[in-house]
Amino acid sequence: SASLFSAIDMAPRDPILGITEAFNADTNPAKINLGVGVYYDDNGKVPLLQCVQKAEAKLMEQLSPRTYLPIEGLAAYDKAVQELVFGADSAVIQDKRAVTVQAIGGTGALKIGADFLKRFSPDSHVFISDPSWENHRALFESAGFTVNNYTYYDEATHGVNFEGMLASLRKMAPGSIVVLHACCHNPTGADLTQDQWGQVIDAVQQGGLIPFLDMAYQGFGAGIAEDGAVVRRFVDAGGPLLVSNSFSKSFSLYGERVGALSVVASSAEEAARLLSQLKRVVRTNYSNPPQHGGKVVATVLATPELRGLWEEELAGMRVRIKQMREDLVAKLAKAAPQRDFGFVREQVGMFSYSGLTKEQVGKLREESIYAVDTGRICVAALNSKNIDRVVDAIAKVL
Ligand code: PLP
Repeated sequence: SASLFSAIDMAPRDPILGITEAFNADTNPAKINLGVGVYYDDNGKVPLLQCVQKAEAKLMEQLSPRTYLPIEGLAAYDKAVQELVFGADSAVIQDKRAVTVQAIGGTGALKIGADFLKRFSPDSHVFISDPSWENHRALFESAGFTVNNYTYYDEATHGVNFEGMLASLRKMAPGSIVVLHACCHNPTGADLTQDQWGQVIDAVQQGGLIPFLDMAYQGFGAGIAEDGAVVRRFVDAGGPLLVSNSFSKSFSLYGERVGALSVVASSAEEAARLLSQLKRVVRTNYSNPPQHGGKVVATVLATPELRGLWEEELAGMRVRIKQMREDLVAKLAKAAPQRDFGFVREQVGMFSYSGLTKEQVGKLREESIYAVDTGRICVAALNSKNIDRVVDAIAKVL
């Protein structure tokens, strides 16, 4: 007889996790996984940052009972995040117009923001870049929104189709929610220039749109302050603003799930009302966030010595990725001179839309090199030991 669950279909497989499963099952010792969304060091390992180790040692010295955190998270964490995201001297902090809640990673921050917006702007449509992080669409749809794309990537230039993007923004109905990658666009690696950001901000203002900045890679582009500058420019322009941020990559704390959602209101009084509603969203989802990751990040950010160490370690990751871009371009220029890969140097962050086709990605897999069918490769998974094999394989499949 039919049970409650007997008619449930199998959900579609996560495309990225599927690659990891195939990679794990591959017995070739020389296998390389460029499909991931994780930073690896030159030894192919996920780093455990020194600043994190030192903060954890410090926390171990002051053993504390595991009480519940407040619904909005650890106060010291929320404060540190605000200062990082908006700048310590930001007027929105001084005027108490910004509210920040600790979240379960960047994903959790996006979901709190989505649920919150669905309550107070239920008829808005959400717009995400074409293409975007593969979870954006499903996440906003699961909050009840209709999700559309705005023009973004230009296959011909491997950069941004900026005229197309502006045209998309100008067509959106007032009150539409626009999800923008603050830096290091995932999956393409194609970012806007500072001048283009100015035009996007104008279009958002003039169109009465609601900007939702997703900042999952602060510090992986040009630097911590440089990457955060776009947030400050949106703040200066005025109007509502949501910012999700994640420390998964910048602290290499993937599994601790540390992120935050910040919302900018027009007054302190309005901010207090927003915070009360954000807390309601959190309370009815998971009540309050976990302690450990938030304590580690708050400790690092608030301790000058550890913060300096973090900035150095983050710069190390950023520089290594840039070096891998340089090396990949230089080596491919020799191995496959018929094709120009110079655009890889212009792309920013952990990823590159390499221009490899699905068929070529399939052929790479026969060499035990794993990439995403779209041609996305994780530049942060390249290292001085595996890059030659990757270059040779790419040259072979072109
Ligand atoms: N947003 C973007 C653009 C991302 O690339 C990611 C992670 O890959 C996230 C959000 C989610 O971050 P987290 O792992 O902290 O949930």
